[in-house]
Amino acid sequence: SDKKPRWRRIVVKLSGEALMGKASHGLDASTVEAIAADLASAARLGVETAVVVGGGNFFRGIAGAETGIERARADSIGMLATVMNALAMEYAIEKQGQAARALSAVAMPSLCEPYSRQAALHHLGKGRVVVLAGGTGNPFFTTDTGAALRAAELSADVILKATQVDGVYSADPKRDPAARRYETLTHDEAIARNLAIMDTAAFALARETKIPILVFSIKEPGAICAVLQGKGRATLVTP
Ligand code: UDP
Repeated sequence: SDKKPRWRRIVVKLSGEALMGKASHGLDASTVEAIAADLASAARLGVETAVVVGGGNFFRGIAGAETGIERARADSIGMLATVMNALAMEYAIEKQGQAARALSAVAMPSLCEPYSRQAALHHLGKGRVVVLAGGTGNPFFTTDTGAALRAAELSADVILKATQVDGVYSADPKRDPAARRYETLTHDEAIARNLAIMDTAAFALARETKIPILVFSIKEPGAICAVLQGKGRATLVTP
């Protein structure tokens, strides 16, 4: 039997990497479909669900800048990459029979609605999954910071940070077999122990706005609903 969800309004952060499955780049249809089904189920549990999508499966500004493109322009390309992922995710969620709306921080009105706080709150209130594209809309930031920013302005109860591992460890569990997983941590403990949970700007914003961050693995199907119901393994970072 399913347990009552722990939070009323969530912002999920999905990296582009989470959408490429076993491929080296781009989108893997069955991976996108599985995550879309999970997000649709979260919405059907009655949880107001927003998801910030990354773009690293297509393009990252820092990598672009290394090839000689000026950083701000490379970041524009990166933001466009997140729009591609958002449109794919919006479609995949709709295909599950669940309403979804992509909103872009970079206005592209012929492709999707431009982001505004009011529009996002309106769609969330209607039970639609809101897919947030374009990160913060500014170069030199990341979609992690976009997730923290949206969580703050939409008064989300938690940021669900999807990763490839089932929480925050004292060291890299792939390299150090003695690494131990934290069940809970405070934002301050994470800083004191030098644990990189999100990038610095994102983490600072979450800490300042006192928004908890739940770090969990997106690898298992249904991972989002599992953590919403307190079932999945994860680390909860709280004020
Ligand atoms: N980006 C940006 N501003 C933002 C968010 C993203 O310029 O607010 C650009 C940046 O170039 C970044 C790329 O978009 O490398 C893709 O985002 P991110 O690296 O966060 O994606 P992820 O690693 O989560 O897939």
